[in-house]
Amino acid sequence: MMQGAAIGLDIGGGSTKVGLISSTGDLLASRRVVLAEGADFPAILAQYRAAIADLGADGLPVGIAYPGHVDRVRGLGLNSNVPALDDHPLAAALGRGVLLNDADAAAVAEARHHPETRMLMVTLGTGVGVSMIIDGRPLETAGGTLGDSGHLNLDPSGRHRCRQGCTGCLESVASGEALARDATAMAGTGESPALVVELQASGTVSAAAACRAALAGDPGALSLVAQMADWLGMAVASWRASFHPDLIVFGGGLSALGQPFIDQIRGRADARSLPFLAAHCRLTLARLGNDAGMIGAGLAALAP
Ligand SMILES: [Zn+2]
Repeated sequence: MMQGAAIGLDIGGGSTKVGLISSTGDLLASRRVVLAEGADFPAILAQYRAAIADLGADGLPVGIAYPGHVDRVRGLGLNSNVPALDDHPLAAALGRGVLLNDADAAAVAEARHHPETRMLMVTLGTGVGVSMIIDGRPLETAGGTLGDSGHLNLDPSGRHRCRQGCTGCLESVASGEALARDATAMAGTGESPALVVELQASGTVSAAAACRAALAGDPGALSLVAQMADWLGMAVASWRASFHPDLIVFGGGLSALGQPFIDQIRGRADARSLPFLAAHCRLTLARLGNDAGMIGAGLAALAP
C-alpha cells in the first residue's frame, strides 16, 4: 500500500488534514489535527508528526498545502492564517517536505480530472483563491502563487474593503464574506422572507444559508447570486485575457450554487470577452471536494 505513496498536509485556520495519498492521487487514509489554542511551532510540529506516525507513514515524502505565501528556497510559509507556522522551516522539519500554496495544491489535484492543458481554478470560499495549472504544474509569479488574482479591482465605487485590505476588489464584492454581509443587510430590510427567518434564528446570515435560500428559489437571495455572477463574469473576462485558459473550474463553498450559477457567470463573461477566448474556454464545477488540497499536496511531493 505504501509503495510510491506520500503524505499530504492541508493546513487550515483551525485544523489540518493529514492524508496518505497514493501515486495515482487516491486518498488511502486520513487524520484531522485540531490545533490547540495558542500552540507554538514545536507543539504544532509534534501534532503533525504524531498524525503521520498514526498513519504508519513515517519516512514518506510530505507535501504541505500552505494557507499563504510560500518561500520555496527557504522551505517556509508566510502571511498565513496560522501565524505560529509563518517563517519557520516547516518543510525541513517534516523530513522530505515540499511546500506549496493551498489553492495551488487543490488545483494540482483537480487538474488530473480534466483533459485540458491550461486550467484556471477559482476557489470561492470566504475569500477568492485563483490558481493556474499548465501541464499539471502551478504557474507561480511570486510567493508561490499566481499573484493575488482574487483581488482584481472591479468596483469603481470602492464601497467595500476585503479582509486583506484593498477596496473594490473581486473578493470585496463576490466571495463568501461578501455574500454573508450582503445577505445580512438584505435580511435587515425585510426584502427576503427566507433571509429574515435566518437572521432571526442566528442573528446573522451566513454565506451557506444565503446559498441554501437561493437554491430554494428565494428571490432576494437569487438577486444577490446574480449580482455575484455579474462580478465574477467580469473577472473571468479579465482572467481569460491575461492567461488564455482552456478551462476554468469553480470550487469552494459557493460552488454549491451549482451549474445554473456557472451558466450565469459564463453568460456575463462571454458578453465581455474577446470572442475567440470565449469560444475556446470551458467553465465547469470542480470534481473534487474538501480533500483536494490534501491530495494535491501529496501528488506534489511525488512529482519528479
Ligand atoms: Zn482585496
